Amino acid sequence: MGKFEMIPEARKSFLDSLFEAFSIIGDDTYVYLCDMQYDYSRWSKVLVELFGLPGEYMYGAGDIWEEHIHPEDREVFHEGIENIFAGKSSGHDMQYRARRKDGGYDVCTCRGIVIKDESGKAQYFGGAIRNHSRQSHVDKLTGLRNQYGFFLDVQSHINNQKVMRACVVGISGLTEINEIYGYEVGNAILQKFGRYLMDHVGARGGTYRMDGAKFAVITESLSYEDLENAYEEVRAHFREGVKKETLNIPIELNAGTLAVENFTTDDQTVYACLNFAYEDSKRNKHGDLVEFYNEINKDSRKHVEKLHDIRNSINNDFEGFYILYQPVVDAKTEKLVGAEALLRWKSERYGMVPPDGFIPFLENDPIFPILGKWILKQAMTDAKRVQEIMPEFVININLSYAQVERSDFVDTVWMIVDQVGFEPDKLCLELTERCRLLNVDLLRNVMTALRAGGIRFALDDFGTGFSSVGLLKELPFDTIKIDRGFVQKIEEDEQEKKLVNNFTQTAGIFETSVCVEGIETVGMRDILKKYSIHSFQGYYYSRPIEIEELLGALNSESGALCFHRD
Ligand code: C2E
Ligand code: MG
Ligand code: MG
Repeated sequence: MGKFEMIPEARKSFLDSLFEAFSIIGDDTYVYLCDMQYDYSRWSKVLVELFGLPGEYMYGAGDIWEEHIHPEDREVFHEGIENIFAGKSSGHDMQYRARRKDGGYDVCTCRGIVIKDESGKAQYFGGAIRNHSRQSHVDKLTGLRNQYGFFLDVQSHINNQKVMRACVVGISGLTEINEIYGYEVGNAILQKFGRYLMDHVGARGGTYRMDGAKFAVITESLSYEDLENAYEEVRAHFREGVKKETLNIPIELNAGTLAVENFTTDDQTVYACLNFAYEDSKRNKHGDLVEFYNEINKDSRKHVEKLHDIRNSINNDFEGFYILYQPVVDAKTEKLVGAEALLRWKSERYGMVPPDGFIPFLENDPIFPILGKWILKQAMTDAKRVQEIMPEFVININLSYAQVERSDFVDTVWMIVDQVGFEPDKLCLELTERCRLLNVDLLRNVMTALRAGGIRFALDDFGTGFSSVGLLKELPFDTIKIDRGFVQKIEEDEQEKKLVNNFTQTAGIFETSVCVEGIETVGMRDILKKYSIHSFQGYYYSRPIEIEELLGALNSESGALCFHRD
């Protein structure tokens, strides 16, 4: 018991009756009630189980709960509770992330009030914690189980070691349908689709409404072939059109599937893999059913496991993630002008994994934007240290389309710039041609909003896609980065010289500057110096290095000239 005085039985019963009166709330909201005199409290059973607390009744629950709060949110929480117990405040209303028993975090809002006795003395502190990550398990529009229900059911299959197949099916262009015909029509389509899916496929398993226009099916009995046949039938049916009054709206679908035979994985990883297959179906396969790594099925398990480990690393305070910086030099003077932040992930099991080995999987994962924020913050924080020696130093940070498409992206960037105290005109965000997967208007809005505050944009891997020039025409890029694939053989290949010439002229038309990546030899540099290129990057100058090494080089006698080889 230590520092706590034992609570008398009468007070405990009173606490119980108060608690019962409080606790009739939905399954996404938990209740806690604390007898402040004894710092003895009772907490909802569901919360105790989900978050792995010692029990429903606890002495000193504030400290115990604080252990579960995300380190970044802990200070605010701590202060709030301290003020309440010190009598400085009469309640709190805060949002934080709380760690579940399984190590993942849920976003919770916590509202509490202090109940005083007649003499004004604080007696009880009670309130409700709403778990935004859990919510109810039923989708109000379709009546189907929702994504939280899906996660629970997947996890329960895994826990019980039951082999299953999961599938995500979605409707293409629902946003446009909503815009053209109105939300009522969009909703009616979702309802009809959910109903049909449940009757035709889900009858042999469970059907779920996921976020937006996506649905999911879990089945224990359908093989890949069965599912493919069923999907083709559903697809044919909806392609003929959904009727709504006088309208007939043809619907196109996309779908991804995954067999879960490996029980070391978790619900979030399964969903991430399904989303990966779904995106592949939508972007590259015209809506055909895509199995997660069908063609390399033996490896499928490895991919799922790797993704699982990466997600865990992210949840574990980005353990194993770090950033290297590759210097960028002025093409004329060859002096350092900035650096590009390049992400790395290292784990005991996989060693050092380069970004191409995990970013493509992770991009479609709901967790990616969290990592994206970490990269932005970390890279700007490091760059600020360099700017103490070299104020004009510019940091280039790579973005994924999955980060940019989030509605809070612009606010997030400004928030981080503010937090770090970074000068926006020293920040250059790199987009690859894959950003074409996004709506051009959305991209233009994002770029315009950030450029208005001074942030620059570079088009990375220029020339590797099929309409690079088209992108330059439509979007306000400040720089193009010519991919190293175009200069690798420039010393002997006349065609590469012509291409580079062509690219620099194109950049001239759009008034963007040019950076060439992948300069490896002095010969390459000598040739490229003849073109209208503004900056160089490549192993000839430096490989990607740790921030300490970059700072060390700048602090050394040769200063910013250190990357100049001659
Ligand atoms: P990128 O943005 O085009 O980055 C340039 C890549 O070329 C880097 O590979 C760099 O190490 C490599 N490189 C630079 N100079 C030379 C050279 O002279 N020779 C050769 N052979 N290679 C050179 P890296 O670090 O493996 O990154 C690969 C890609 O992963 C990046 O291509 C970028 O698209 C992506 N990536 C890296 N970090 C991030 C990140 O933080 N966020 C996102 N979304 N993507 C990232
Ligand atoms: Mg880049
Ligand atoms: Mg590149």
